Formats: sequence, structure tokens, C-alpha cells
Amino acid sequence: MDEEGWFSVTPEEIAARQARWCAGAGVVIDAFAGVGGNAIQFAQMCHHVVAIDIDPKKVALASDNAKIYGVEDYIDFIVGDFFQLAPFLKGDVVFLSPPWGGPSYKAKESFTLDLLKPKDGHSLFQVAQAITPNIIMYLPRNVDLLQATALSWLSSPPLDVEIEENFVRGNSKGITIYFGDNIFP
Ligand code: SAH
Repeated sequence: MDEEGWFSVTPEEIAARQARWCAGAGVVIDAFAGVGGNAIQFAQMCHHVVAIDIDPKKVALASDNAKIYGVEDYIDFIVGDFFQLAPFLKGDVVFLSPPWGGPSYKAKESFTLDLLKPKDGHSLFQVAQAITPNIIMYLPRNVDLLQATALSWLSSPPLDVEIEENFVRGNSKGITIYFGDNIFP
């Protein structure tokens, strides 16, 4: 792992929980795969994963990590910009863990979606939505929840939304928002 990989990797138990939400899914697109923390868990629960990162070093590390977990055959790694690739991607679930802008996100009282990198959360969601209504976003614990859940209204009828706060040993590490079409049958 490299330095950025360390502070940005999704803790394993959280990544496992996020993957359980879509257990059995066909293709999961991990749009900001980093060193593979999420992609590896999706590969264990779903049929196939497309793991994208703009940084070739991250993709190389993610690929090594997938081998350690024995799931490399279930993941296609792509070095590229998710926003450029998105129009050509097909998948059943899109997982979004975009950069939170470095550790300074904690200092904000309310983390609004415009603070996400490299594009604001609203544009990001719309790009993902063109692929599938099943979208998982992993966001800072201080995210503006009203603003984030309102993304469901970009669809008509609005998408179902499920919010989960993720703790590791009693410390809040982030918020996962699950959006989908009829996720509560
Ligand atoms: N969930 C990952 C961590 C993601 S950190 C894990 O568990 O390991 C966010 C990642 O987004 C970084 O690795 C960064 O290189 C990548 N990134 C930034 N802009 C991107 C873009 N436009 N397209 C794809 N990846 C991008």
C-alpha cells in the first residue's frame, strides 16, 4: 500500500458489509477503486467486478492485493478516469468512494457534496445513474444527509434510499448510502 492508500482504504469490515448489500449481483463497478479494499470484498460476494482508478500505482497495488485474497480472476482492473469511461460501462451496481479531499474533511461541520473530488457529488451521481439505479456511496460521517439523500429525487419515481453509519471499534468511519430501484421488495 502507498501512503494515500492507507488513509483512503475502506476498513475491511465496512467493505464486507457494503458488499453484502449486493450479494449475488452480476457486475459491480468500483469507480474509485484505490488499493482495492472494496473491489476485493465485492469480488467475494458478486459475480464480477470492474475496478477503476486514475492512478496506475493504485491499480498495480489493488491487483497485487486481489492476488493475496485469491480473487484476481473476478476483477477487471482499468487505469482511467471514471467520468470518461462511464458512458461505455455496463453494470448492475456502481460503488462510489470518491476522494473526500484529504483528512481535512473532518474539520467541516457539514460536508456538502460539492467538496467531493474530482467532481461534485451531484454530477457524480448523475453519471453513475446513467449506468444503473443501484448506487452505493461511501461518504464522510459529517456528510450533509439531507443533501445526499435528496439525490434519490434525480430519478422519477425517486429511488429507494437506505442510510448506514459505519463504525469500527466504536468510532464512526463514514456513512454509506444505498440507492436503488425497489431495494425493499
Ligand atoms: N475504496 C478504495 C479507496 C478509494 S480512494 C479502497 O478501499 O481502497 C479514492 C480513489 O479515487 C483514489 O485512489 C484516487 O486515485 C481515485 N480517483 C480520483 N479521481 C478519479 C477519477 N476521475 N477516476 C477514477 N479514480 C479516481
